[in-house]
Amino acid sequence: MPPPHTTTLALLGGEPTTSRLPDPQPRPPTEEDLALVTAMLRRGEGAYVGDEGQVRELESEFGQLVGARHALAVNSGTSALYSAFFGIGLEPGDEVLAPTYTFLATVMPLFAVNAVPVLADVDERTGNLDPADLERHLTPRTRAIVVTHLNGVPADMPALTAFARRHQLALVEDCSQAHGAICAGKHVGSFGDAAAFSLQAKKTVSAGTGGILLTNDQRVYERAVMLGHFLDRAEQAVTSDEYARFASTGFGHNLRMHPVGAALARGSLRALPETLRIRKANYDLLDQLLTGIPGLCPPVREPYMDELGYYSYQPLYVPEELGGLSAELFVRAAVAEGVPLSKPRSAPLHCTPVFTDPSWHSRTFTPHAGTDRGYRHYRTEQFPGSLRYLERALRLPVYSTDIRDHAERWAQALAKVATQAHVLRAYESR
Ligand SMILES: *Cc1c(COP(=O)(O)O)cnc(C)c1O
Repeated sequence: MPPPHTTTLALLGGEPTTSRLPDPQPRPPTEEDLALVTAMLRRGEGAYVGDEGQVRELESEFGQLVGARHALAVNSGTSALYSAFFGIGLEPGDEVLAPTYTFLATVMPLFAVNAVPVLADVDERTGNLDPADLERHLTPRTRAIVVTHLNGVPADMPALTAFARRHQLALVEDCSQAHGAICAGKHVGSFGDAAAFSLQAKKTVSAGTGGILLTNDQRVYERAVMLGHFLDRAEQAVTSDEYARFASTGFGHNLRMHPVGAALARGSLRALPETLRIRKANYDLLDQLLTGIPGLCPPVREPYMDELGYYSYQPLYVPEELGGLSAELFVRAAVAEGVPLSKPRSAPLHCTPVFTDPSWHSRTFTPHAGTDRGYRHYRTEQFPGSLRYLERALRLPVYSTDIRDHAERWAQALAKVATQAHVLRAYESR
């Protein structure tokens, strides 16, 4: 028998190295979770008006995990970000620095508070906001920074908090992919003025659909409560002279979390240490197995990255080591071998129509639509770090179950593809 890495590539008609493992599924509810939900539904516990029940428990448990004084459960991570931006008191025209590479919900709610997102470049190795690119975007209207811990990898919070302090900017963390991550000795979500976590089904802690905002600042908390809550909950939470008299009516939204979602999220949160333990083991195993395969560089680790959120595994592709073989063909060949390898799909925000087509701003319903609010528009080349990142980043899913045998076969398959890069290059230049 020939050694496995010299057999014909599956892409070119050979036998695949392994059969494809189904994508990771959200953690199924346990018997305990289901019993709690059944009991709630039997009691008719389908909505809360006040600070009570499963939502109250979830807020208290989540706040304790990260060490935040206040927690506010809402109906999505996007709503948590919206509440955070409203909470920190942004005013129309205030500029907020944001990474161009992130999930859209990190940035889009800024339009809903009439603030102006000002995009900045990202570190080409991690996709996280590059602290070195912030200075040039500062203007007298800059008020805040929003930062994502992408793929569970903490952003450079030592540098970002120092920058925010130096320029007196508010700081919002989007921790939607980084539940449980620790940066420079502290939980992500504890660095800024407010933090948002998505609790959507794919996230490491899940309510099915939901989100949660954390803050230590009473004023931020009161404003966030009043954006999406009214009557009892707002009256109980909002006690300051500044806002208490407005509490009963709120500011016009109902962003409350569903009680069943809160109950499910509590179960998922209790399981988090064990979930992270297994995901970390899988992640570290991939690091080990992929080290030394030409064309692949395991994800960078900086000293401040104490614990990751292990949301997805992103090695970098190094085409120079494979004679310039395109990442697309490398991925196609790996997928044909049975490896669940992919490339990040979403474009950087500065390449999306909201940031390239000025006519968008006259088509929105905001009170200032059509006026020149200082909205920025961008050209593709403007953020080379984000383009380099997209070119080089690869992605393997991180599972919450033991997948050692599969991971070993993925590594064999990747080594096989790398060993035969010359065959693929010939195929590519046909
Ligand atoms: C999932 C996610 C969100 C949005 O959360 P939803 O609960 O889907 O609204 C925001 N930011 C990031 C980085 C995310 O991954």
